[in-house]
Amino acid sequence: MPMNIAIDGPVGAGKSSIADQVAQRLHILHLDTGAMYRTVALYMLRNGIDPQDEQTVSAHCGEADVRVAYRDGAQRTMLGGEDVSDLIRTGEVSTAASAISKWPAVRRRMVAAQREIAATADMLIDGRDIGTRVLIDAPVKIFLTATPEERARRRYRQQIEKGDMTPYEQVLAELNARDAQDMNRETDPLRQAEDAGLVDSTNMTPEQVVDAIIAVVEDVYGKRA
Ligand code: C5P
Repeated sequence: MPMNIAIDGPVGAGKSSIADQVAQRLHILHLDTGAMYRTVALYMLRNGIDPQDEQTVSAHCGEADVRVAYRDGAQRTMLGGEDVSDLIRTGEVSTAASAISKWPAVRRRMVAAQREIAATADMLIDGRDIGTRVLIDAPVKIFLTATPEERARRRYRQQIEKGDMTPYEQVLAELNARDAQDMNRETDPLRQAEDAGLVDSTNMTPEQVVDAIIAVVEDVYGKRA
């Protein structure tokens, strides 16, 4: 059985960068499942399909050939052979990804694909439903969160560094909207699995969060890092 570590949590909790660092320390791969939903969303946008239109999205989601590859240990996300890793990071794709991920037909495909990938290697998998649906038997489950205000502050600072001047209030409003959409959908809403360890990073440095997660992993798997 490969080593599987599940990390779930809301937008802006720092999952992606924390997951990257934990995976590096453990010498395992990191599967970012949000990138897969984003790639389906990009496919819909490119084909003029309204992400809120369940019927059309469900009818066409099987056409989106979403795959992941690893280059120098880093995930590249592919759509029909095209590397879309950078194209899926826009605000438009974020909003569309949150919308299409409500639809059961999309989730069924993504969950099946993610289970297949997770079975191939030791991996840390991050998302919203990894501990509650994709890998319910994962030996290590972490729910990583922080207050909405702190998550919005982090996102705001990151965007300013990239030259995006969106005001803090708007960043917070968009984050609250995505939280609401992710937590209130009928199929596999974002929630903490009963057997997941809670890590609230509001008052923690990234290094402290990484150390806290490694400590949980070592409790289960013994010393690896
Ligand atoms: O993690 P990221 O913000 O890139 O994910 C984009 C969107 O994909 C999220 O807002 C969420 O709606 C959806 N998602 C999901 N289940 C996952 C991963 C992401 O529903 N396992």
